[in-house]
This record gives sequence, structure tokens and C-alpha cells, in this order.
Amino acid sequence: MVLSHQVIIDKASVQGMMNYNNGIAEKISRLKNERNAVVLAHNYQRGEVQEIADYVGDSLELSREATKTHAKVIVFCGVYFMAESASILNPEKTVLLPVLEAGCPLADMLSAPQLAEWKGQYPGRPVVTYINSSAVVKAESDICCTSSNAVEIVNSRESDEILFGPDMNLGAYVQSKTRKRLILWRGYCATHAWVREEEVVKAKREHPRAEVIAHPECSAEVLRHADHVCSTSGMFSTAKKSPAREFIIVTEAGILHRLKKENPGKAFYLASPRLFCPNMKLTTLASVARVLETMEHKVQVDEEIRQRAARALERMLQASRGNTNGRAGEPANG
Ligand code: SF4
Repeated sequence: MVLSHQVIIDKASVQGMMNYNNGIAEKISRLKNERNAVVLAHNYQRGEVQEIADYVGDSLELSREATKTHAKVIVFCGVYFMAESASILNPEKTVLLPVLEAGCPLADMLSAPQLAEWKGQYPGRPVVTYINSSAVVKAESDICCTSSNAVEIVNSRESDEILFGPDMNLGAYVQSKTRKRLILWRGYCATHAWVREEEVVKAKREHPRAEVIAHPECSAEVLRHADHVCSTSGMFSTAKKSPAREFIIVTEAGILHRLKKENPGKAFYLASPRLFCPNMKLTTLASVARVLETMEHKVQVDEEIRQRAARALERMLQASRGNTNGRAGEPANG
């Protein structure tokens, strides 16, 4: 009996899909040369998008890469705040976002007026803002951080009290690693925050030899079952170095593509089917080809805001020069 929700894909359809993808990949490669463009893709992007990218990485790696490239055009396969950050750091370059609607609900949880009011309640405290935030919020912040350098950035501030936003789970994790007192904004990433502790416990029961690698945007209840807490780039080095052969992964599903590719002898299990970010999956090969063809979907930031936001991002890049390990709890210099 065939259930109504089942989809049967035969061999010919799979071959047809592969031919279609290969055709678009060739078109993207030709357009990249014509436009002098580079394609940057976040670790959560679809596998086929990662395959055609010139560089795949986490927010910190992609920010660095955006400042290093000599290309005139950056196609950012990710969500809006990422393309905005690339544009802030490279005002002379054209930054294209394949799908303009690809936003980040976490970034939307802290607006500039909310930040202004919050700062008013705690005068004199420096603001450390997660890179998952809008340009206007970055412009009102002292310094940005990513999940791989958050502890290091917080410790680099002189003040003993710091406003940290918008992600409260990352903030709570950083709080457990620093003597500073963090005042947290109560935003969260639904993709990570909605993973339940029972799901991780169940996955551990099913795969008793597996090590658990979790992202610090998960709740404290989930993180207490993790053997390693890291940014996505930290997950690659951890999986590679660890003698374990099996891993339970607690971050967005897109990361499995590279983890499996780079570690052919190891097995990776996603802790929960909820680990899926619909915004990250909006970008397709067709949308990448389309923006390269039309040069539409340019992401630009008002110059006055850009300059202030750039200061917060550049301070972060300056302060985390040495951090390449991506481990959220291990400051590179500490
Ligand atoms: S995974 Fe979470 S933080 Fe990342 S883009 Fe999606 S909603 Fe935003």
C-alpha cells in the first residue's frame, strides 16, 4: 500500500535532477567569471549550494573572507544580516543576496529602538551584540561577536557588567564561562532553542558510543548533555580530531553535508528533526544563477549606519584575530 504522503522517486527522476543541477552549476561558474564574482555560503545552506560556493564557513569565517576577496561582486548564500555584514565591511563591492526574503527571526528580535531603551535602563554598560543582528543594531553596539569568539569578546571588555543580545541561550552559555556579569536580551533562535532535552537523551540512548556536539544557541538543558559546545566551524575540527566514530549533532541540518564529506569513515546523527532553518533553505542554485544574471537583490546599508556598524564588526575582527578553532568555550588566547 502506498501512503498518500509518500513520494516515490525513481532512478530516472534522480538522474534528471542531477543533470538539472549540473546544468545550473555550469551556468553559475560561467556567470561568476563574467561578473568577477565570488560565492560565499554558510554551513547551513543546501548541499548543492555549498558545492558551487568558493568558500563555505560560519559567520566569523565568512566575515573574514568577505574582507579578503578581490572579487567585485559577493553573492552571499545565507540570510539577510550576513549579506548586510559583508556589505558593511566592503562598501565598494556589490553584495547580492539570492533570496531577499531570507531573514533571521533571531536578528529580528532586537530592534534599534528596543536597544536604545535597554541601554537607557543600564547606562554606561558596553553592548556586545551577536553578529545575528541588523545593521542598525550593530551601529548602536560597542562590539559584535560570533558563537566562536563570544567568550573572548566579552572578556576583552573592561567593564564588569555587559549588555549581551539578542540570543539569550548563547548569552547564558557565555555567562557560564566568564566572571563578568551579563545582562541578557531574551531573544532566541527557534531552530536551536526548540530542540528538547528528551530528544538528545533519546539520541544518546540509541547511539551510546556517539559524542554529542552542540551549538551554544541551544538551551542550557540541551547543552548539559554535550561533550563539545562549538560554533559550526568548531564542529568540523572537533569531528576530525576526535577518536570517536559516531556523533550526535545538535545544530542546523545543513552542516551534515560537509561533516559527512570530510569524515567518510564516521557517522553523524541529527539530534532532532526540528533542526531545520527554513530561511537558510530558501537559497537554491536557480536563485544564485538568477542574481548573477540580473545583478538584482543588492544589499546596501545607509552610509552613516554603515560606518558605525563597521566599527563594531572591525573591533570584533581585531579582537579575535587568533581565534580559528571555533570552540565556543575556549577563547583562543585564554
Ligand atoms: S538557524 Fe537560527 S540564527 Fe541561524 S539564520 Fe536560522 S533562525 Fe537565524
